[in-house]
Amino acid sequence: MRLDKLLANMGYGSRKEVKQLLKQKAVTVDGITVKDSAMHVNPEKQDVSVLGERVEYVEFIYLMMNKPPGIISATEDRYDQTVIDLLDPDFQHFEPFPVGRLDKDTEGFLLITNDGNLAHNLLSPKKHVPKWYYAKIDGVVTEEDIKAFAQGVTLDDGYHTKPGELKILHSGEQSEIELMIQEGKFHQVKRMFEAVGKTVTYLKRLSMGPLQLDEQLALGEYRELTEQELNLLT
Ligand code: URA
Repeated sequence: MRLDKLLANMGYGSRKEVKQLLKQKAVTVDGITVKDSAMHVNPEKQDVSVLGERVEYVEFIYLMMNKPPGIISATEDRYDQTVIDLLDPDFQHFEPFPVGRLDKDTEGFLLITNDGNLAHNLLSPKKHVPKWYYAKIDGVVTEEDIKAFAQGVTLDDGYHTKPGELKILHSGEQSEIELMIQEGKFHQVKRMFEAVGKTVTYLKRLSMGPLQLDEQLALGEYRELTEQELNLLT
C-alpha cells in the first residue's frame, strides 16, 4: 500500500501532514529515509518507522457502538449525521461501515468494522445469526403472540419470517418485551408486531450473535472489541 495511506491510517495525520513528516526526513523504510509519499510498502514485511519508532500495522478495526436515536446507520447520508460521523478521525481513516442497519430511531448494539468478510458472515441469511432486541409495545402482548412469533409471522409484503423467540417482560396497555430474530428484513421487529396488531414505540438492539451491548457505553459512545469478543466472532 502507499506509504502516505499507511501512515494516515495508523494515525500519523492527514495525507498532507504525512507529506510534511516525510519532508522532514522523519520516516524510514527498512532503515532508509524515504521522502516519496507514493512509495509502495508492505507493512507486514517491511519496517516502517517514524522518528525511529516502528509503525505497528493494523488492517482491520472492530468497534461496538451504542447507537443513539436520530443517527443513520450508513457511511454517508445527504441530510443526517451517520454513525461513521460519530467516530474519531483516527478510526474514519480505516473506511469502516456498520454491519447491517438499525432504523434511525432504533438504539443499541451496532458493530462497525472495515472487515468485509466478517460483516458478510454475520449478515448472511444462511448463518441465522440471532439478534436480541428490547422493545416497548403499544398494546397488550400475549401468550398467543409468543406462539405466533415462534411459528413465524407473515409480514405486510407476504414474507413469512423465520421463528422468533419472544419474552414478555411486562404485559399491559404498554408492554415491554425482548425478541430474538434470526434475520434482518427491513423494519423487521416493527413489522412483526404490526402483523399481530401492535406498535413498537421504542426499540433497542441488545446483542448480535455472541456479542452483547456493553451497557457502560452511553448513547453515541463506542469502543474497540476486546480480544475475547473478537475471538467469539472468528
Ligand atoms: N427491526 C426494526 O424494526 N428496526 C430496526 O432498527 C431493527 C430491527
